[in-house]
Amino acid sequence: MNNSSLSYLDPARPEPWASFIEQIDRVAPHLGSLAHWIETLKRPKRILIVDVPIVRDDGTIAHYEGYRVQHNLSRGPGKGGVRFHPHVSLSEVMALAGWMTIKNAALGLPYGGAKGGVRIDPRAFSRAELERITRRYTSEIGIVIGPDKDIPAPDVGTNEQTMAWMMDTYSMNVGHTASGVVTGKPIALGGSLGRQEATGRGVFIAAREAGRRSGVPISGARVAVQGFGNVGGIAARIFRENGAKVVALQDAEATIANPAGIDIPAALAHAAAHGSLSGFFGAEPVREDDFWQLECEYFVPAALEGQLTPQRASRLRARIVVEGANGPTTPAADDILHERNILVIPDVLANAGGVTVSYFEWVQDFSSFFWSEEEINARLESIMIKAFDAIWQMAQERKVSIRTAAFIIACQRVLAAREQRGLYP
Ligand code: NAD
Repeated sequence: MNNSSLSYLDPARPEPWASFIEQIDRVAPHLGSLAHWIETLKRPKRILIVDVPIVRDDGTIAHYEGYRVQHNLSRGPGKGGVRFHPHVSLSEVMALAGWMTIKNAALGLPYGGAKGGVRIDPRAFSRAELERITRRYTSEIGIVIGPDKDIPAPDVGTNEQTMAWMMDTYSMNVGHTASGVVTGKPIALGGSLGRQEATGRGVFIAAREAGRRSGVPISGARVAVQGFGNVGGIAARIFRENGAKVVALQDAEATIANPAGIDIPAALAHAAAHGSLSGFFGAEPVREDDFWQLECEYFVPAALEGQLTPQRASRLRARIVVEGANGPTTPAADDILHERNILVIPDVLANAGGVTVSYFEWVQDFSSFFWSEEEINARLESIMIKAFDAIWQMAQERKVSIRTAAFIIACQRVLAAREQRGLYP
């Protein structure tokens, strides 16, 4: 069975869903009798495509396309971010939802996998227009989301303000304040301390654990980071705080390098003020393509999927790749990195810090009892390390990559739940 059997997908644009399917195919031989249920993972449970019409500031009416995909709900409600980006497509949202199923199961969080998005460039809209887009999108997907159904969160192009509008819109529609409908909210609305930093912090924890086991200490290590947003910016800052040297950064508009180490707080301040790293004086501009062959110990792709292509993987001069982004490495590039002995810590483990603290936020909202930041960071460490240990051990036992090991553990959990629940009717 391949994705061409899903009639609603554009066969001319199979990625990134095709990469997700290939990853599932690679894990199937390791699942024993549970492989009987594997087709479950190759078909999203539920797809909602919505029209998002708004009145623009100039009085014209514009329509945008939005999605919410619930890939799998066998282990609990859907959970996954909402992306506002001009390249959002059904295939992309399906793949991102699939990776959420795997990530939540690999970490042992009581969720299925979901994802959403609207195909817009958020930079092309006023704040008032973004609010109207967010509110209409939320109303349209309101029939499938809810604190015990499917819980969105921020992703590329969305942030805590987007979540505040989503929470308010949903609450207005149901007639009571429902703070648990989204995570990644502002603290004043039931958000969690530590959530904004959690994905970057988790990337760092995953890197540190990988380095510990493979003799690549963080202190003094050179780090290159692609994507300088919520994930890449925070990961870079925490690497630096722990004694690493961030020698190269790339965002959508600029690539910069400084072998002596970039001043990350200054770069973050520049990006916050100007919207990108372009024009930052604390490093030299580098050709966009040269970024992929700068020497470093840790390489952190934290922008978008499909960035680490086979061609780039064969030039990479890093010891360890820590995937901050979802799906940054294509399966063919994965094979090249494996042959070249470059360790890859996959997205479904490395960037799971965000959804882990989202889980804490959701639990806190339900109990209306809020934890300290120390408690949150300590619990995050403990869940990430436990998952890392189990996945690392599985990789040793089965002699497979860390990605395949994470997929084995996750698929076992999802498919065992599927089997135990049985098929209805
Ligand atoms: P963001 O919008 O905050 O930042 C994205 C960054 O990537 C920006 O710096 C942007 O300039 C850069 N970028 C975009 N296109 C690029 C390109 N072609 N080349 C180089 N840089 C480019 O988004 P984010 O929340 O940091 O998410 C980044 C990745 O991490 C995504 O894959 C997302 O799905 C994943 N992720 C995010 C979270 C989260 O909590 N925010 C959690 C898990 C995974």
